Amino acid sequence: MVSRIRAAVMCPGRMETKLFDYPEPKEGEMTVKMHMSGVCGSDKHQFDGHLKVDFPVIPGHENVGEVFEETKTASSKMEVHAECLYKGDRILWYPDISCGTCYYCRFLGTWHSAQCENPFTYGYVNCEKEEFRPWTFGGWSEYILLRPGTRVWRIPDEMEDEVAVLLDTLASTRAIARAQMPYPNQKEGFGYGDTVVIQGAGPVGLMAAIRAKVLGADKVIMIGAPDWRLKVAEEFGVDITVGLETFDTGEQRIAEVKRLTKGIGADLVADCTGIPSAFPEAVEMTRKSGYVVEIGAYTDYGPIPFNPWRLVDRDLTVIGQFYCPPMQYEADLKLLKNTMDRFPYKKMLTHKVPLDRAVDAIDAHRALKSMKAAITPS
Ligand SMILES: [Zn+2]
Ligand SMILES: [Zn+2]
Repeated sequence: MVSRIRAAVMCPGRMETKLFDYPEPKEGEMTVKMHMSGVCGSDKHQFDGHLKVDFPVIPGHENVGEVFEETKTASSKMEVHAECLYKGDRILWYPDISCGTCYYCRFLGTWHSAQCENPFTYGYVNCEKEEFRPWTFGGWSEYILLRPGTRVWRIPDEMEDEVAVLLDTLASTRAIARAQMPYPNQKEGFGYGDTVVIQGAGPVGLMAAIRAKVLGADKVIMIGAPDWRLKVAEEFGVDITVGLETFDTGEQRIAEVKRLTKGIGADLVADCTGIPSAFPEAVEMTRKSGYVVEIGAYTDYGPIPFNPWRLVDRDLTVIGQFYCPPMQYEADLKLLKNTMDRFPYKKMLTHKVPLDRAVDAIDAHRALKSMKAAITPS
């Protein structure tokens, strides 16, 4: 019998391990024993107080665990393929439960549920307020309670936790696929044989590079730092790397991309950096009528000078992306499974950190010492 459990509790600039009561599932709910929970760039923004969050929270939205205690309805209603779940099944789940009543939920439907105005999001739930009892709704915890309406996937047997925990990062690069519309073969939209520049050598940049390759990019150029991350990226099939340690000004980086593309620019440039000045650079690196994808600006760093004329003059399409819809998980779980032989995914997970040292994982992320880190609660 488990009675008390440990969880990491975050306030801006502060993290401590606290004890909670074991979350006994009521009918329709399910308790999951956590195996692993990814450390996302947004967790760092949260810790630094740069995201609007109702603190204190138990972080952790990139979750992998096993069914520990199910109830009849949860067992039959949570899995997205309408399959039953049983104790011991390894699972992962989409972090949002959409409200079902806001404009985006009602008018645009589930494909847009990342845009829900009032979602319940694992990893972002206040863990003191009465209405959120029993509070264990973040993955940096030994156990987590899943509420009705959670979309759950069973993890394929051949996929280890270390790969499954990367799903959310991959899913958050879906805008590369959105840039395929409408007619890539007529050179409208990103397509086979194209040259792609990825700005940023972190986990999101790496996943964006993988998606570009899988969708048929001929040449992927990655701009980033530090050099060790670029070396890892080469193991994932990135063709050319441009290190910030050598090319340390925007002008140099733009000139280098132009040189590598016979003076034309890339067909698609994806900003995965989280540094605002990367966007105007992306615009200058893109060929006329090309595509710029903005994934990295996940928190509001404030405005930067930008000349909109550059978009018109170069006839560019810009795609901004906020997270992903739930069924991106379905597609990308298959993508991960089907490319496990092609990409050495496990090498991406450089740090596994116990609960008590969760803050170390955030520090490693900030200091660019990790590629991807995960908390291992049990
Ligand atoms: Zn995330
Ligand atoms: Zn909604």
